[in-house]
Amino acid sequence: MSLPITLRARHILPISGEAIEDGWLRIERGRIVAIGRRKPPGPVQDVGPAIILPGLINAHTHLEFSDLSAPLSGAGGLPAWIERIVALRRLRPDGQTEALRLESAIDAGLYESALAGVTGIGEIATALGPCAYRGKGGPRLRVYREAIGLSPAAIVRASSSLVRDCKHLSQGSVAAGISPHAPYSVAAPLGTQLISTSRTLGLPIAMHLAESREEAELLATGGGPLRSMLENLGAWPTLTPPTLLSAADWITLVAKAPRGLIVHGTFLGDDRRGAALARLSRHRDRLCVVVCPRTTALLSGVLPPLSLFQSEGVRVAIGTDSRASNPDLSVLAECRRIVDAGLVSPIEALTMATRNGAWALMQEHRSGILALSRPADLVILMPTGHHPDPYQAALDPTTSVMATLRNGKTITP
Ligand SMILES: [Zn+2]
Repeated sequence: MSLPITLRARHILPISGEAIEDGWLRIERGRIVAIGRRKPPGPVQDVGPAIILPGLINAHTHLEFSDLSAPLSGAGGLPAWIERIVALRRLRPDGQTEALRLESAIDAGLYESALAGVTGIGEIATALGPCAYRGKGGPRLRVYREAIGLSPAAIVRASSSLVRDCKHLSQGSVAAGISPHAPYSVAAPLGTQLISTSRTLGLPIAMHLAESREEAELLATGGGPLRSMLENLGAWPTLTPPTLLSAADWITLVAKAPRGLIVHGTFLGDDRRGAALARLSRHRDRLCVVVCPRTTALLSGVLPPLSLFQSEGVRVAIGTDSRASNPDLSVLAECRRIVDAGLVSPIEALTMATRNGAWALMQEHRSGILALSRPADLVILMPTGHHPDPYQAALDPTTSVMATLRNGKTITP
């Protein structure tokens, strides 16, 4: 159990309210018990010109690739990148060697995330993964068990161990979820089954949706580069062509889950009838979008259409995606990318990276803001120079992470 402590800093950014200049907060038994301005009662740990804000939430990543030293090439867009990923996976040995590699990659990703100020992660786990998350320290995890299946046999395989894996995850210190991979890799019957399981178990859904133009082409015409990629990989069932759902129909389906995370959504606005966006907006009390700006730039050559989501009143959270498409797991770097591009203000980006991320992972009652009686999940940032705007200072590239706390205890070495 952490000792009671009062932290004093030049700025405290609760995100749920105004910035507090010359502020302090008191932590007892891992929770925030008081927040104030100027001189606090009792002994104080003064962190000087630091900025304290809620721990960052990386709402979408795949930690299994955290041992890659550099991202794979984005040439050829998503279909070519997926072929590279599958080739990488097929090179890996089976059995114990891969289990150990996976565990150490996850550890590396958790360690890197804690160093980057992250206290909550929305993680996607393949069918092999769930055992590898047991007993982990570091950031809080919501692990979405991924399912892929186009042919009848693949659908049976995908669903056979799903409930067992989700229950296994929920028994540990990890929160579980379910992830239908994408509209081009999950046939309609499997999708219906996954949503029904999420309702029965009360688990949230995360799904890659409208990530590429090629996805829209496949759903509209049944062909294109994504179909060729699936055929090359032997994943397209030629005898019994799969029934695929449109992005709009997936949104309706995912909205039946207790909470739904639409990953990317980059091309949702391309639907000429506007059905997909309209449905997303209609279900915004249950659905939000997580954008991964640097990955979208690499694989699609654009940045996420943030103003479109904002104009529909849809919450947006931030993810890094994996180190297979991104050089690191820094949520602050993702924020910087969209602020530098003029898409959002620093305070909007930091709200996406904290409060909205916590909501996305269905953890809004325990993280995302600094407030009384909440767990003390927070990050202490140290700016190098003097910035009049603390939100801007938090995103300055020269600002460093001094410490990351979960439940009032440091998770950075
Ligand atoms: Zn992803």
